[in-house]
Amino acid sequence: MSTKTIKAYGTKSAESDLEQLNINRRSVTAKDVEIDILFCGVCHSDLHFARNDWGMTQYPVVPGHEIVGKVTQVGTGVSKYKVGDLVAVGCLVDSCRSCNNCKDDLEQYCPQWVGTYGGYDKHLNSPTHGGYSEAIVVDEDFVLRVPENLDQAGIAPVLCAGITTWSPLRQWKVGKGSKVAVVGLGGLGHMALKLANALGADVTLFSRSPNKVQDGLDLGAHQVIISTDEAQMEGVMNHFDLIIDTVPYAHDLNPYIGTLATNGTLVVVGYLGPLDPMLVTVPMIMGRRSVAGSLIGGIAETQELLDFCGKHNITSDIEIIKMQDINLAYERMLKSDVHYRFVIDMKSLKK
Ligand code: NAP
Ligand code: ZN
Ligand code: ZN
Repeated sequence: MSTKTIKAYGTKSAESDLEQLNINRRSVTAKDVEIDILFCGVCHSDLHFARNDWGMTQYPVVPGHEIVGKVTQVGTGVSKYKVGDLVAVGCLVDSCRSCNNCKDDLEQYCPQWVGTYGGYDKHLNSPTHGGYSEAIVVDEDFVLRVPENLDQAGIAPVLCAGITTWSPLRQWKVGKGSKVAVVGLGGLGHMALKLANALGADVTLFSRSPNKVQDGLDLGAHQVIISTDEAQMEGVMNHFDLIIDTVPYAHDLNPYIGTLATNGTLVVVGYLGPLDPMLVTVPMIMGRRSVAGSLIGGIAETQELLDFCGKHNITSDIEIIKMQDINLAYERMLKSDVHYRFVIDMKSLKK
């Protein structure tokens, strides 16, 4: 099939910095939408993938799955979008469309889901490449509509940081009066505070960083607990209906379990791997408390969130960077020095 060569940023090994590369995008097929990328958010998963933290990266990798752009071309069979529309692409660009999960709008749990990067493009027989690039071609069923009233850069992180926290908030039926806590104030954490607050919950932030207390309150938390302070932790025992844990690295979950109310659930969305230290089951058994996991969200649920953000005027708090500054941004992310999401202005790559 014919392809178009475009500029992107990616890396050829776990040890090297990201650099400018050329990649191929497929020509639009009947159901495809071609998107000129305006902005792309920087997720901690991009860093995990670039550095092969999960042991599954194929190189070269071009990260980026918080994409906002304008439609520049549509295939002959496209009905949902037209040239000039403001659209978005998140973490998924395809799935089998016939399994039970696909039928239930849970494409993220389809055994054959195709990631925006690091997936497999069945048209090109090659790995998919993400949003650190000039343009992307995506099947219309995996393209989302962006509310026109929102800041185009600020909405980009909703496509991953937003939906990854929205999905558990919805699954565990958070609403007015629910007691929700969020562990870690980074990209996911700050969206979780905003969204839980907008749903009417009573919101708490657990953070290791005393310098983030005021930001936590400004972003929607009603209280901030410094997780290393035992007296503060003691004050919230048996309290929360839902805790969303966004911490990217192995850490001790045990201190949080006792802060759940009876029937409460701690949902891990950050760290992927074996727990260290191990979980002690006593507080789980003694209070019917659960530990669960959750992966991004489906396409319909992501559109639901974009519409919710449009209605409630919610965007991410961002720091706009140039594509060329991505390696520095990764170093700052490793130091938890993100306030609270980097978003790449893709004009910098096109120049
Ligand atoms: P981020 O912006 O770097 O934020 C992570 C926050 O966690 C930090 O700001 C820090 O908050 C806290 N933290 C960092 N290292 C820690 C450590 N060693 N111990 C305790 N706390 C630590 O990252 P993000 O983009 O929000 O992503 C968070 C994680 O979610 C990543 O692992 C990412 O891969 C994953 N993720 C999962 C999904 C999914 O579908 N499940 C989707 C997207 C991302 P404080 O300073 O407040 O403590
Ligand atoms: Zn992500
Ligand atoms: Zn499927």
